[in-house]
Amino acid sequence: MNKEELILYSRHIMLPEIDMEGQIMLLNSKVAIIGLGGLGSPCSIYLAASGIGSLSLIDDDLIELSNLQRQIIYSLDDIGKKKSSVAKKRLNTLNQNIKYINHDERISSKNIDKLLQDSDFIVDCSDNFETRKLINKYCSVNKKNLIAGSCIGWKGQILNFNLSSEKSACYECFFESVDGEDLSCRETSILSPLAGVIGSYLSIEIIKSILGLSSKEEFLLQIDSQENKFKKTKVLKNPLCKICSNTKKS
Ligand SMILES: [Zn+2]
Repeated sequence: MNKEELILYSRHIMLPEIDMEGQIMLLNSKVAIIGLGGLGSPCSIYLAASGIGSLSLIDDDLIELSNLQRQIIYSLDDIGKKKSSVAKKRLNTLNQNIKYINHDERISSKNIDKLLQDSDFIVDCSDNFETRKLINKYCSVNKKNLIAGSCIGWKGQILNFNLSSEKSACYECFFESVDGEDLSCRETSILSPLAGVIGSYLSIEIIKSILGLSSKEEFLLQIDSQENKFKKTKVLKNPLCKICSNTKKS
């Protein structure tokens, strides 16, 4: 770390749980953010400012006027431009000491290996079940920790899976246990600053995951911003899960 970086990250380094060693861990880490919308915007800003060494920014959408209500990384001048390239440019004005890789692609079974292979930690800010399940399967098979967020209206949720461990539950275990209930941000009502809260929380969980400070148990954190309610629930591993459980037949 050079002198400028020591000053830049000094408030992190002063935290006993981070210190120099932890900041170096952050600088050596590689994180992929899938979806650069309401959650991906604040999440990418905080991860860049925190000094995550390499950020992969994945989104194939163009910026629209209706995005600006919550996707705070973009401005009026950006309408019609590609989210991934504008995000990269904006983040580079915030922190030039880290590497940004932008992918103007929609993640699919065909390109997921290529898009995520260089990242050790994955943030799922996508907006549909199909993509969530695809990312979950990839992370489970490749043993990469996964943090996922979603929100609708006044409510949001964060899911944390320590998929680098064999013992971890996964999104599929969760999805089965709640009978398909989940929240998706696309084309639904959403309170602007709630996206900021959930997206910021995702960045906290990624930092903790990198530093080895995450909860040892997989969990769902539900936030109801209208009622000021926070609820944390353990996500149990389904021993019959077709994604994360070893169901070898003897
Ligand atoms: Zn599972």
